Parts: sequence; structure tokens; C-alpha cells
Amino acid sequence: MTDTPLDFGDPADLDQLRHQFRAWLSAHPLPQRLPDEPVPVFLHRWHRQLYSGGWVGLDVPVRYGGRGLSALHQVAISDELGACHAPGVPRIGYLAHALLEFGSEEQRLRLLPRMLAGDDVWCQGFSEPGAGSDLAGMSTIATRHGDHYTVRGQKLWTSYAQYSGLCLLLARTDRSAPAHRSISAFALPLDRAGVTVRPLRAASGDDEFCELFLDDVRVAQAERIGAEGDGWPLAMTTVSYERNALDTGHISKYGLLVERLRRTARERRGDLPDGLLSEIGRCFVDYEVLVAHARRRTAERLSGQVAGPESSIDKLLMTTTEQRLYETALKVFPAEQLRGEDGELFGEYLYSRAASVYGGTSQIQRNIIAKRVLGLPSGN
Ligand SMILES: Cc1cc2nc3c(=O)[nH]c(=O)nc-3n(C[C@H](O)[C@H](O)[C@H](O)COP(=O)(O)OP(=O)(O)OC[C@H]3O[C@@H](n4cnc5c(N)ncnc54)[C@H](O)[C@@H]3O)c2cc1C
Repeated sequence: MTDTPLDFGDPADLDQLRHQFRAWLSAHPLPQRLPDEPVPVFLHRWHRQLYSGGWVGLDVPVRYGGRGLSALHQVAISDELGACHAPGVPRIGYLAHALLEFGSEEQRLRLLPRMLAGDDVWCQGFSEPGAGSDLAGMSTIATRHGDHYTVRGQKLWTSYAQYSGLCLLLARTDRSAPAHRSISAFALPLDRAGVTVRPLRAASGDDEFCELFLDDVRVAQAERIGAEGDGWPLAMTTVSYERNALDTGHISKYGLLVERLRRTARERRGDLPDGLLSEIGRCFVDYEVLVAHARRRTAERLSGQVAGPESSIDKLLMTTTEQRLYETALKVFPAEQLRGEDGELFGEYLYSRAASVYGGTSQIQRNIIAKRVLGLPSGN
């Protein structure tokens, strides 16, 4: 394995950590996915294996089940995982950050160690049939009765809820307050009376998405994460981390593909049309811009800056880089190769189409950049 692009020589022990991880990985390689094993079940086995080696929650304090290291250590391991084409730890990073920032001490001590260990599998119940981009317009209601709430409504696109035990759920707790101050967050056990999880089978045959029906579900006040009305900032914190290429290990994965395209272009010199060569050049430029941006974001995070609206730039750069890369790969590599030995690459191309939707669409990222990063006035 070569040095990865985020190896920019920060703390002296970072190299040592990468070496330790590579040694561990060669002794504990990515397991084989069993025939017919659902993807989340396979990923959960991998999560457990990583956890047993001490490779989950590196930047989470020790008292919450992590290793108490820096964000850079976590980024380095995500980067190593991407560089060897291994999946990262599903959804832990961004949900853990939401709990760290908004959970009470009792909730952090109780929920985080189990989340990191994979004892509890979480899903994210934000989107609704009428509220995706316009999350503030959600209509799921949590009505308070003394020490508990009853929750009524419907969620949609909840990834892998059928394999999850807990849901980070958003619901409106105050119908009179402005939308952004009227939403609260809850840790909802999905086996609670009144919860129905219905998987939706996509055209690809995957059943990633679920509908979640909430029919007067009783939720204790102690299951609320943060104060009443904290749901909106909690959701923004969650998606800021979800939008970050550093946390997902995507950068090193893209780097491998850029290098493969470059090699192929050199080997097939004269065979590929100029237009395609310039597309490969464009992929390289996108990738270099993303790496430079990621380095800056890492430095900002290390200096204590919290993820804010700038994470929309991360998401947009990540999406354009990923989509252009896989589109170009599809043109460069022969169709029979993509169906056979490169079946995984073709699957990644298909999934890259979703990058401009999940975690907030590209149009919404541009709106956030225009209004909240650049401070431009709202249009009509
Ligand atoms: C693979 C995948 C996994 C997902 N997993 C989860 C999950 O686990 N949990 C969860 O809660 N959600 C999940 N989602 C849902 C995702 O967050 C929403 O699909 C996304 O926020 C868009 O919402 P929507 O689908 O309702 O589209 P809409 O909001 O209806 O948008 C439709 C179109 O209109 C555009 N548009 C909307 N408003 C504006 C505007 N103001 N300006 C310009 N254009 C606009 C959008 O960009 C889009 O092109 C997932 C989605 C995908 C694709």
C-alpha cells in the first residue's frame, strides 16, 4: 500500500498508527460476504471485527467507549480503509457526533459505548414523504404528556431500518414555534409498540430504504436527545459530518480509481479519443481540488472549528468528483469487463448516482453555500 494523500505528516504517532492498522488488517482481513448475506449484516460483522481491533471511534473519549485520540487519527483510519477498498464503519461517525454534542452525560455513557461496539445498530429517521430537502416542514408530531410523548407520523428513505434496533428520530414537539425551533430528536427503540418498519424494494433488487410508520408511539422524556427544540441543530450537526469526505474514506478510494484511469490512458495511448483523455484530466483536477480542500478542513477541525455550513462544499466537491470519476470509468473500461471482474465498479457507478441526493441534494448544498457561506440575499 502506498502513502495516501492525507498522510501530511502531522503528529509523529500517526505513521505508527497507520502501520499498526495495516499489520492488524493483514492478520484480520475483510471477511468474505456470505452468499445471500444482506449488505448491512455483512457490514455489521465487519464493524464488530474492526471494533475488536480497537479501530472504531478513535476520536471518541475513552469514557464513552472510544480511544480518546484526535480527529486526525480517525481520518487516517478512514483513509486506510478506503485505500484498501474496505468499507468504513456504517453510520457511526455522524450519529456519534450528534450524541456527543447533544446527548446528556447519562445518554452518552449509556448509548455511545454500545453504538461503537455495534451492540446497538442505529438508523436515521429524518426524511418524510413531504419533507426531504425541506426537512423543517416535517409533519411527524410528538405530543407531550407529563414525562412522556406520543409520536405520530411517517418517515421515508430510512436506510436499513429493518436491520436496526434504534432510530435517531426527528419529530415536531411545538406546533406554534418557528419551524427550526420546534423539532426535537429522540432515540427510539424500533421494537416499541406502534412502530411499523416496511422495507421498500428498489428496482436494483436492494432493500436499503424503509418506510417507518409511527402510530401513537410512547417515548419517554428521558429518550429525548438534547433539549426540546434542539432537533434542528442536532440534524444539521449530523448531516455536516455525513457530508464530509474525510470521515467516509472516500478520498483514498477515488485516488485508486484516478490512478487506474491514468495508467490505462498511458497503456492505451492513441486508442482513447482526445475527449476522453481530457475527461480523465478533469477527474484528476477534481480529485486534487478535493484533496486540497480535505486537508484544509482537517486542519480546521484540529483547531477546534465545528462542522458548519461549509460542509456543503465538502459534499458538493465529493459528489461531483465521484460522479465524474465513475462516469469516466464506464467509458474507459470495456462493457464486458464491467459486467465481469469489474462488477463492483459498475455497482459503485450506479450508487454514485445517489450521491447528489443522500445527505441533502446538490441543489440544496448550493443554496446553503450561497446563503450561509457567501451571505447572498435570498431570491424568490
Ligand atoms: C441512498 C439514500 C439513502 C438515504 N438514507 C436516508 C436515511 O437513512 N434517513 C433519512 O432520513 N433520509 C435518507 N435519505 C433521504 C434523503 O435525505 C432525501 O432523499 C433528500 O434529502 C432529498 O429529499 P427528497 O427525496 O424528499 O427530495 P425533494 O426534497 O422532494 O427534492 C426533489 C428535487 O427538488 C429539488 N429541490 C427541493 N427543494 C429545492 C430548493 N429549495 N431549491 C432548489 N432545488 C430544490 C431537490 O434538489 C431535488 O432535485 C436517503 C436518500 C438516498 C438517496
